[in-house]
Amino acid sequence: MLLSGGIDSATALYLTKKTKPVRALSFEFKGIAESELRSAKSIANLAGVLEHRILRLPDLREAGDIPGFRLAGRPRSYIPLRNSVFYSLAASVAEETGADTIVGGHNKDDQEVFEDVSSQFFTPLQAALRAASPVLRRDRLRIVRPLRDLPKPEVIKLGTSLQVPLELTWSCHRDMKEHCWRCDGCRSRRRAFMEAGIPDPIGGNL
Ligand SMILES: [Zn+2]
Repeated sequence: MLLSGGIDSATALYLTKKTKPVRALSFEFKGIAESELRSAKSIANLAGVLEHRILRLPDLREAGDIPGFRLAGRPRSYIPLRNSVFYSLAASVAEETGADTIVGGHNKDDQEVFEDVSSQFFTPLQAALRAASPVLRRDRLRIVRPLRDLPKPEVIKLGTSLQVPLELTWSCHRDMKEHCWRCDGCRSRRRAFMEAGIPDPIGGNL
């Protein structure tokens, strides 16, 4: 499964590991917050995954790091064709390791912002990946998104019930020791915990 260090993927990981062993896959792209990778490592370790693999893509950039106006209007943290790239790489790992399912932690809110977390994207991608590999076809590779119908506050409630270590998750887009509480990621985290009626273990409600 794809693990970013955020609340959603950590919750999807804990939900998935209830029923099957999990390999976690993270991506180290240009400008990723070190704290986010550190969170992913801590969460994977605590969850007892079979393997936590970190694929390094040092030349893959976020929109905020791309000069010019070509990607104007996209969120700063958007990576061009992000999920086309990430899920193809996840399928490569699946073909190598024998995994028959790729799990993504996208929640309902994500689908309102990004087109590449929709069924219109994932259904043909799954078909294309199977078409590309007799191994994936035989294993009937599936891409699943267990949080797809849950808005973020509901994900937090679910994560709390699954005892996800929310104190280890990282939501900030900046590479700082602690959350900045000013960027989009931090503001979304604060709002979601408040709407869930659950105190953020790292103090974002203060
Ligand atoms: Zn922040």
